[in-house]
Amino acid sequence: MHQFRSGSFNEDSRGRWYFNVAVDVDVQPTLGQGAVGIDLGLKDMATCSDGEKLENNRFYRHMEDKLAIAQRARNKRRVKAIHAKIKNRRKDAQHKFSRKLVNQYGEIVVGDVSSTKLAKTRMAKSVYDAGWSQLKTMLEYKCAHAGIVFKVVHENNTTRTCSSCGSLSGPQGVNGLRVRDWGCVECGALHDRDVNAARNILSLAAGHRRPEVGIPAL
Ligand SMILES: [Zn+2]
Repeated sequence: MHQFRSGSFNEDSRGRWYFNVAVDVDVQPTLGQGAVGIDLGLKDMATCSDGEKLENNRFYRHMEDKLAIAQRARNKRRVKAIHAKIKNRRKDAQHKFSRKLVNQYGEIVVGDVSSTKLAKTRMAKSVYDAGWSQLKTMLEYKCAHAGIVFKVVHENNTTRTCSSCGSLSGPQGVNGLRVRDWGCVECGALHDRDVNAARNILSLAAGHRRPEVGIPAL
């Protein structure tokens, strides 16, 4: 049973109007089990502790050439339309990504984004910020609706720490940003940088897990 509450009209950047309504919906628990950690980043917008990734540049692929042509032709309407299309594609990919995780898991843990990650990309900071917060918001409300746990943890040392043995043997600092794969000198484990970080984000939230069987806490 859906109950409509307040509504509002909104216009998007292309002059199209939407009527938005707030809807009360019943919580529908999913059958998801276990927990997943998510590392937010630059190369991939999101990397999961299970190895799943949401690429960043997939939204722009094939669109850059079209955008350049429209910009050279000073076709403002076309430029605006292409930007809107990129935005929609990103949003659509984020919806699919978050939906899949919410269906699959009983708990989702996201790392807050550290400043070191943005040290090299000051120009695009706002773009990344917007993408990350949009994804976090989607995960948060989808988790709430599905009755599963959503957490944000400080990603302190999540890149440096080996998720296998816990030693601080991983890449660090601005120079370490280029390192995509590394091997732990202590235990010999081989890591994908972002998957390792996501695993550490997941273990930071350990101890507060949802039990494997039971009623979701609301
Ligand atoms: Zn190790």
